[in-house]
Amino acid sequence: MAYIPIQGFISSFRLLDILDIALVAFFLYKLFLLLRNTRAVALIKGLAFLGIITVISRALNLHVVNWLLQQGMTVILVALPVVFQPELRRALEHIGRGRLFRSDHMISKEEMEHMLDEIIPLTESLSKTRTGALIVFEREVGLNEIIDTGVPIDGIVSKELLGNIFIPNTPLHDGAVVIRENRIMAAGCLLPLTMERSLSTELGTRHRSAIGISEKSDAVVVVVSEETGAISYTYGGHIYRHLSGEGLRKVLNDFFSKQPQGLANILKWRSAK
Ligand code: ATP
Ligand code: MG
Repeated sequence: MAYIPIQGFISSFRLLDILDIALVAFFLYKLFLLLRNTRAVALIKGLAFLGIITVISRALNLHVVNWLLQQGMTVILVALPVVFQPELRRALEHIGRGRLFRSDHMISKEEMEHMLDEIIPLTESLSKTRTGALIVFEREVGLNEIIDTGVPIDGIVSKELLGNIFIPNTPLHDGAVVIRENRIMAAGCLLPLTMERSLSTELGTRHRSAIGISEKSDAVVVVVSEETGAISYTYGGHIYRHLSGEGLRKVLNDFFSKQPQGLANILKWRSAK
């Protein structure tokens, strides 16, 4: 067994080494957050599996298997940047916009205001025309499983695109739209229904599914009722009904700015319910 001169190790340890380790840990953590909701997770699992097989085949001296795996690895490493070009671009943009030092899933103030300038008029117009809509805003808890049940979109939020999605009797209008940061990830998604029995009978499956996903995640969900045109939102298993467009702007603004004042307001609304 290797002998580790622990005292020598401690005496040669400099303050800069702590900084070194802390920086590496920080960048690995940020990398993990960046990759968390992407296809890269499956890829990393696949690579880890191949790595384990390589180690085993080397230990057992399986020369041909080992040779094949090594050739395969070279091909995979060359193919990676091609296959993951969208993810890589997104990650570089993320760093380029200086987001590395900000909390994950927090869009800039300008992006948020731009998004709300699209969402609020859209919600008001859907409410006027009594067009049913279900919009899930992902927060810290990843909603990939929900996104996978729908049709992938990955487009910047705009009232035109969202308005088009919710036009009745079109292929995407049924189900929910999921928004991550300022992008529409998918439409026509299936949400879990709440099991809560004490809800008003006015609330059908659209509202129950909005409550359901808010029980299982920290998402904020906006619902426009087809029957009444009422605008509601759900959070933490609760539904808050009959909001005005401006009321909804304030709520979403508070959720996404993460300011203490905003949180205080949310708690106030919750306790007022
Ligand atoms: P509204 O007030 O708009 O009528 P509601 O709460 O009464 O809403 P329903 O009338 O049952 O609900 O709405 C049905 C629509 O809700 C479906 O056409 C579909 O678009 C959506 N919906 C129902 N269940 C789900 C679900 N599990 N996930 C996502 N969307 C759903
Ligand atoms: Mg209904």
